[in-house]
Amino acid sequence: MRLLWYKPRVPARIIDGKAVAQQVEREVLEVLAALPYRPGLVAVRVGNDPASEIYVRSKARKAQEIGLRGTELIFDAAMREADLLQEIDRLNHDDDVDGILVQLPLPRQIDPRKMIDAIDPAKDVDGFHPINVGRLHLGRATLVPCTPAGVMRLIDSTGIPIDGKRAVVVGRSDIVGKPMASLLLQRNATVTICHSRTYDLPSVTREADILVAAIGKPMTIGPEMVKRGAIVIDVGMNRVGREFADRLAHDEEKSRLLAKNGNALIGDVDYSRVREVAEWITPVPGGVGPMTIAMLMKNTVTAAQWRRR
Ligand code: NDP
Repeated sequence: MRLLWYKPRVPARIIDGKAVAQQVEREVLEVLAALPYRPGLVAVRVGNDPASEIYVRSKARKAQEIGLRGTELIFDAAMREADLLQEIDRLNHDDDVDGILVQLPLPRQIDPRKMIDAIDPAKDVDGFHPINVGRLHLGRATLVPCTPAGVMRLIDSTGIPIDGKRAVVVGRSDIVGKPMASLLLQRNATVTICHSRTYDLPSVTREADILVAAIGKPMTIGPEMVKRGAIVIDVGMNRVGREFADRLAHDEEKSRLLAKNGNALIGDVDYSRVREVAEWITPVPGGVGPMTIAMLMKNTVTAAQWRRR
């Protein structure tokens, strides 16, 4: 008689975004210490979008904390497009400014594409300018969008080589999905991009050794969509309320948060269930989020070095 040995599955290991972000910050500090100047970052916000307020403030604060000159520029929600263009032009010509970012979304009267196009590509620390996007897709040195650059660092932190792996990116936005796919391709992954029109999404995601979810819809990726042993990166950040209590009932920690605060921050991945299938997984919060700001600091220092050289 053959004895079947049942080995219980160990839940996925957690990729600690805070720890990896701190490592990136230490690297930035080392570079900064050797520079004879302090690079300057200007974060521009127009209007009073509460999420933008938090993002811009935390970016400027982090910049100051690690020794950059971080400035917040805040304008009235009624600002005219031409006036913002003029401000960007002024920052482009200010030699003390190494990095400019314009926080999105912008008020209706301002076309975000015009603003992105107006930023000097050498100061475009978000990596959204068409010249930088083109350079990224051509595999040339450039300022890489912060969130996907951060995701690459998280994947590398697992020690698992990307070369030759099947990677699936769910989401095709210009700021996350597309650059993410480009970066994975550069590292010799075989890459598939999915979106809202993808037919039979689970059959595609189940092929992924590396699965990146950048959808913006809570708990879209369930365990039945994940290959055993996969690396799962959850970019999504969704604030949900008590209407999610039933769907989160199996997740003790999130249920507790929901009951206590009336809301909880969750990702695009059903974290507690997918953890039973994947090998590595990022939590929300504490995964991709901290990496975005850390990579922005890195980009600012890189932009300063390249421009001043
Ligand atoms: P977008 O809304 O710009 O893009 C979402 C993408 O997901 C689109 O390509 C859309 O497809 C696709 N999509 C939507 N629904 C489905 C579905 N049911 N199945 C498959 N694909 C779907 O979002 P972003 O890329 O800007 O952001 C994605 C998430 O990441 C958000 O939660 C955002 O908050 C978060 N984020 C987090 C950051 C961080 O620092 N942690 C930074 C940036 C973003 P289609 O193109 O067909 O519409």
